[in-house]
Amino acid sequence: MLGTLTRYLRFMGYDTMSANGLPEGDKKEDSMLLAIAGQEHRILLTKDAELARRGEESALLIRSDEVMEQVQQLIDLHLVKRRLTLSRCSLCNTPLREANTCEVGSADYAPKDWRNLSFFWCSSCKKLYWNGSHGKRLEERIENELKG
Ligand SMILES: [Zn+2]
Repeated sequence: MLGTLTRYLRFMGYDTMSANGLPEGDKKEDSMLLAIAGQEHRILLTKDAELARRGEESALLIRSDEVMEQVQQLIDLHLVKRRLTLSRCSLCNTPLREANTCEVGSADYAPKDWRNLSFFWCSSCKKLYWNGSHGKRLEERIENELKG
């Protein structure tokens, strides 16, 4: 349900696990999520008011359906900072490292003009990221649409 928010938080550098794929409203799954949040000192973000209530301090009810408003809610609560780091893979949460020439060359979706670009690599997905693609648009949205 919060898949877009998950990807955005990873682009913003935050270690973000996703519970997508787990059945919703399942009491046993919910208890497991709360246990993981407690053990790993994570905050459980949810659209499920009942789950948020059960989680008390370690859960947060996300109010909006719009992703930028969701990020704004987290900024207002001082849970995240308004910045884009491009430091984690948006698909799998693995920290990105600088890509080497070979890796950049291996990605047929990479821009041909490498000037002024920095490339990053997810060693888990074998996926190439660079500033100026997805990151650029998101950076503009963060600058223009968010306060704080
Ligand atoms: Zn990845």
